[in-house]
Amino acid sequence: MRVPMIAGNWKMNTTVSEAIDLVKEMLPGLDQIDNVDKVICPPFISLAAVKALIKGGTIKLGAQNLYFEEKGAYTGEISPLMLAELCEFVIVGHSERRHYFNETEDIVDKKVQAALKVGLKPILCIGESLEENEAGKTKQVLIKQLSSPSARIYYFSGLILAYEPIWAIGTGKAATGKQANETIGFIRQHIARQYGKRIAREVRILYGGSVTADNIAEFVNQPEIDGALVGGASLKASEFLSIVRQTSEIKRRR
Ligand code: PEP
Repeated sequence: MRVPMIAGNWKMNTTVSEAIDLVKEMLPGLDQIDNVDKVICPPFISLAAVKALIKGGTIKLGAQNLYFEEKGAYTGEISPLMLAELCEFVIVGHSERRHYFNETEDIVDKKVQAALKVGLKPILCIGESLEENEAGKTKQVLIKQLSSPSARIYYFSGLILAYEPIWAIGTGKAATGKQANETIGFIRQHIARQYGKRIAREVRILYGGSVTADNIAEFVNQPEIDGALVGGASLKASEFLSIVRQTSEIKRRR
């Protein structure tokens, strides 16, 4: 049985005091939901304050990025070791990082390896652009993103995947549940062919892209979809709570 997961990617939003207020607002309701992994990913500078707030509870903490070196002269970067002291998860390869910060497959690969080395659990984002989708290249793009040299070790190490079609991120134009389920089913089949059925059965694959409280049910009702990576809607306490609650109820029934 794969434990469902809802992860909130706050992106470059909230000051430290705003992050504290947001966590305080969602904490009582969120803490009580027990059959879903609830992960919040605030900006780096708020991780320590948020960690103190959620201590002893059931909410888990993630970072939005990391650098692949452990330490040294890399001004402004945050290392895996620094994060390992603060959080359990780290988002890697988000399309905004690939696009705005020129992160290549090679860099993404190094970041996943660096995270796993210190015991951080990467949430690896993959997905195709609108042009690739319209040109019928979705499967080809996904296979390339899933085929890094060290991919095998990722799957053995409990990697979490987030399928995020780029055209659906922050656009309000989500994929349909059926579309997302088919593509995630394809990803799982690919993993089964490459690394075996057991790993394919165990790997958690989330959907991401304009998920809201109004459409989450459509996604988590699908058998292949294990939860969601939520951007904009994770910044509203009541909406994020509703997304997690609905996921909990739907997955409990399945
Ligand atoms: C994301 O940041 O990964 C994301 C899916 O954003 P949004 O939910 O705002 O589309």
